[in-house]
Amino acid sequence: MPVHDVQATPVDPPLDCRACPRLVEFREGLQAEHPEWFNAPVPSFTSPNPRLLVIGLAPGMRGANATGRPFTGDYAGDLLYKTMLDFGFAEGAYKARPDDGLVLADALITNAVRCLPPQNKPTGPEIKTCRPYLLSTLAANPSVRAVLALGRIAHETFLTALELKRAQFPFSHNGRHELPGTDLVLFDSYHCSRYNTNTGRLTEDMFRDVFTSIRQHIP
Ligand code: SF4
Repeated sequence: MPVHDVQATPVDPPLDCRACPRLVEFREGLQAEHPEWFNAPVPSFTSPNPRLLVIGLAPGMRGANATGRPFTGDYAGDLLYKTMLDFGFAEGAYKARPDDGLVLADALITNAVRCLPPQNKPTGPEIKTCRPYLLSTLAANPSVRAVLALGRIAHETFLTALELKRAQFPFSHNGRHELPGTDLVLFDSYHCSRYNTNTGRLTEDMFRDVFTSIRQHIP
């Protein structure tokens, strides 16, 4: 497995990473419009020695892209952090600000793509270009035992990062996949976006069911 062969790549991209021209142009446009926003590749948020790795899709415009902390400031964060607090993967109070004092417990949150994509839709090449940071994040955290993919893109890029065949591990909500050659179990959930909850694709109970499965694996 390639998991431990990526020491040359930093865990977080440089804040001036220019590897994806479309995303750089988009964030520089926002920088001019909203200089008070973060508008840069969003670093992971972690506790020491996390056993749970949560992978989102990409920063939300008024969420992580504005605040600089994954899932902080938009609806997806409201549901994610509430659920993580309930299941003991976070401590403190989530107030949608990076200075709210919230800390993670036994958990790490990152995104498959670290820069905000237009319409929340990164392209295939952008997902591929940012994948080394996902792999280096995993390699730097050998304590990880459970991986939660929020949505199909996070699921697929993680499998690709590990050089595993997607067809062998199909995405399904509350799916659980033991990954051969690793000590990791991959759990799937529909993304906790406002769109998915508004349309009823994902309910709070469905999201909690996934965390119940994760807690059975890492009590
Ligand atoms: S998405 Fe990732 S690889 Fe692309 S510019 Fe942003 S940090 Fe760099």
